[in-house]
Amino acid sequence: MTLAIVDSCVSCWACVDVCPSDAIYLSEQEKHFIIDAKKCTECEGDYANPQCASICPIEETILDSSGVAINPAGSLTGIPPDRMAEVMCEIQSR
Ligand code: SF4
Ligand code: SF4
Repeated sequence: MTLAIVDSCVSCWACVDVCPSDAIYLSEQEKHFIIDAKKCTECEGDYANPQCASICPIEETILDSSGVAINPAGSLTGIPPDRMAEVMCEIQSR
């Protein structure tokens, strides 16, 4: 039972201090923060929602125990993924 941080982490440190289990640390090997699976409790007993995912500013960076992004694309920016893809194509074609 644990969450996971993936490569899109920008190492902003925001999640580190809000973790009640001291489970998040900087991995020299991965070059970003990761979650110690032995320590992560998914915040059960402390908070209603995983605090790391609640504060993380980067979409698709923290996955639940099923490997699904807790903050999927568009959930924080409000920009639908299809529209974002269109805009990126427009920018890259300039
Ligand atoms: S889900 Fe909670 S316990 Fe697990 S790493 Fe995130 S903040 Fe820490
Ligand atoms: S809040 Fe998100 S981007 Fe910032 S260090 Fe934690 S996982 Fe990485």
